[in-house]
Amino acid sequence: MLSKRLKKNDWCISYDEKVTVPGRINFTTAHELGHYLLHRQQRDTFQCGQVQIIEYGSPESKRIESQANTFASYLLMPRNDFDTQIAGHELSFELLGHCADRYETSLTATALKWLEFTAEAAMLVVADHDEFICWSYCSRAARRIGAYISPGQEVPASVQEHMRSNALAVSEPRRVAAGVWHSTEEAVESVIVSDQFEQNIFLIRFPLALMVDHAEEPETDTFTVFEENGQGLNWKK
Ligand SMILES: [Zn+2]
Repeated sequence: MLSKRLKKNDWCISYDEKVTVPGRINFTTAHELGHYLLHRQQRDTFQCGQVQIIEYGSPESKRIESQANTFASYLLMPRNDFDTQIAGHELSFELLGHCADRYETSLTATALKWLEFTAEAAMLVVADHDEFICWSYCSRAARRIGAYISPGQEVPASVQEHMRSNALAVSEPRRVAAGVWHSTEEAVESVIVSDQFEQNIFLIRFPLALMVDHAEEPETDTFTVFEENGQGLNWKK
């Protein structure tokens, strides 16, 4: 949490000492620093839940929590350095793990950062050990093909079956037919079983979606939209 100390007239960041994962401590501290820089005029106390990176309460708290997360992610994982680390490599949990070590962030936070800027169609799916989806997060290209999976859904039956029969094997990325993670797209699935957090973390990539996306749907950026809208108003000289 971040709180104003009235007597000393300063601000203090504190975190639960029971949290032993360095990545979480760093992210939490950077997140609170973000509140200090961005939001300290609005409140005297910011109490932030542990690793609720995706879920928030009201629209206003959603907005400020999301801003603090964005701040923290860029502070800890500078975009230009991230690009250098992954350039020329096939994306995998191993590569994300290398970046997580480098930035001392959690694997989840690192994967979310990558999904934020990648041109690939990919998503992260976190499920509990009872095989129910806790949350999923899609890259922009994955959102375009409707790859979202809502919380509470079950992990696809064939994936559960595969995991049961390969429980002890180190999971290599495997190709999964259309109809499993997406109705019409083949996927490449990697999974990490986290006993510590009792979660299965899936990295799902849709390698064929990327090509279709480029061919059929050229990206429109904010500048283009502005320019197009401006033409009718004679803004361009
Ligand atoms: Zn917060």
